[in-house]
Amino acid sequence: MTETSETTETERSRPAPDHEVVIVGAGFAGIGAGIALKRAGVHDFVLLERADDIGGTWRDNTYPGLSVDIPSPTYSFAFEPRPTWSRLYAKGPEIKDYADHCVRKYGITPHVRLGSHVTAARYDEAADLWRVTLDGGTEVTGRYLLSCQGALTTPSFPEIDGLGDFTGHTIHTARWDHDHDLTGRRVAVIGTGATALQLIPEIADRVERLDVYQRTPIWVFPKFDPRLPRAVQELFRRVPVTQKATRWVTTGAVEIIVTGVVHHRRARPLVTAVERRCLRHLKRQVKDPEVRERLTPRYGFGCKRPSFSNDYWRTFNRGDVDLVTDGIDRITATGVRTADGREREIDTLVLATGFKVFDISFPIVGRDGVELTAHWKQHRRQSYEGASVPGFPSLFLVPGPYGNIGLSWFQMIDAQIRHATRVITEARRRGATRAEVRRQAHDRYMSWVGRRMPGTVFLNGDCASANSYYFDEHGDAPWQRPSSVVAARRRSREFPLDDYAFTGG
Ligand code: NAP
Repeated sequence: MTETSETTETERSRPAPDHEVVIVGAGFAGIGAGIALKRAGVHDFVLLERADDIGGTWRDNTYPGLSVDIPSPTYSFAFEPRPTWSRLYAKGPEIKDYADHCVRKYGITPHVRLGSHVTAARYDEAADLWRVTLDGGTEVTGRYLLSCQGALTTPSFPEIDGLGDFTGHTIHTARWDHDHDLTGRRVAVIGTGATALQLIPEIADRVERLDVYQRTPIWVFPKFDPRLPRAVQELFRRVPVTQKATRWVTTGAVEIIVTGVVHHRRARPLVTAVERRCLRHLKRQVKDPEVRERLTPRYGFGCKRPSFSNDYWRTFNRGDVDLVTDGIDRITATGVRTADGREREIDTLVLATGFKVFDISFPIVGRDGVELTAHWKQHRRQSYEGASVPGFPSLFLVPGPYGNIGLSWFQMIDAQIRHATRVITEARRRGATRAEVRRQAHDRYMSWVGRRMPGTVFLNGDCASANSYYFDEHGDAPWQRPSSVVAARRRSREFPLDDYAFTGG
């Protein structure tokens, strides 16, 4: 058989996929992907969402005090400013409402399939498509697969002895139980990350006693969080450029922090200045020098996710709030026992212990039967431009290793979705059915990453005691792209399309 007749035979037997694009996850990344695809003229896509509603982390997280910790003009789509944010840092329900609004306004609703829990995805090499299996066995096929699962999806439960022995009420912050009233109860919170920092001041007034179990202190920057009065909202609505200008300012302010993180070697004085500002804030907020000492981070700013708050640290001035820094020995039937043998009795245990950030929640099997997570386990996390991986054709990760940029998830969404959309539309233009990143292009990106990482805070800073989820089991820090937001966005517009092999069709 000649090559031409072979190709014709293959084409004849190649089935059409159910959809051109399958998107997994209907959080902001999935929603943004849907909007971008429609704008690019790609209308045949489905958003598979395992829950019964859209909104991702803003659907799942409803704990008291939930708010965004990036200014809202920045933490939103640039093309869909919301003039009515009630304050600079919007509360959780407002952000969920914004997600609902975007889905409706941009016609994404008909593309969403709720209750569709993806359990596996396998690339069918003969047919040039992804076979996506749902819980229950249904299969959905797509020419392209966009993994928009988010990082704050799977709650992380701490490995502490006796967790199951506790006879009181246990709540993970990502699954808040609104039927359980904390009023007058003795409560323990395990964890002092960005979530606990919002929760603790909010519940301190309500509970009888609060024990906060801290393993690693968090860097906290003062939060400038004014209400946005009606007059300002009206100005934003009538003169949109004023809101645009506000976005530039808030984005610039946030990205200064990122500059210190990714250009740590050169911007060390900036990081030192930020640390000093935080320490002054701590001194003003906490009266007791001994407590202050225990709340002081011993690792460099930026090694792990810092946050903003004006009321977290000062909660520890209260007589009914105890900062516990002795390690937890075990959970008992009635409380928490620390390494010094002391047991503190409680009624409610709150786990503010975060998420399994690096987990992809289902196996993704590419060419030659290679599974992505296993591949990374063996070869360390790698990608091309934080978006694609050789051997996994027509798959885009939003984001993949070294793909997150800036501090606002929306900056990442914008760049990574543009990357995927450019490749998909180019494949269409060429009449190709497969787009796979070339090994050489991938290796070029990873060697650039390798040259840049030593200058970041992760390798250049003092991160040894940070216990940061930015580091994986290999000791690599594949969370953040080692470049500025501006450079990453430019790159998403300009990376050479020939870095992909377009075949089939
Ligand atoms: P996190 O940052 O991962 O914090 C988890 C906390 O639990 C840490 O303090 C951790 O201590 C502690 N912990 C975990 N296992 C423990 C154990 N076995 N014993 C004692 N302590 C334990 O999780 P998070 O606070 O939920 O925040 C997750 C991310 O969500 C943040 O980084 C942020 O990106 C995001 N977030 C964003 C917003 C927003 O407004 N945009 C709001 C809230 C959260 P170690 O530090 O020692 O590991």
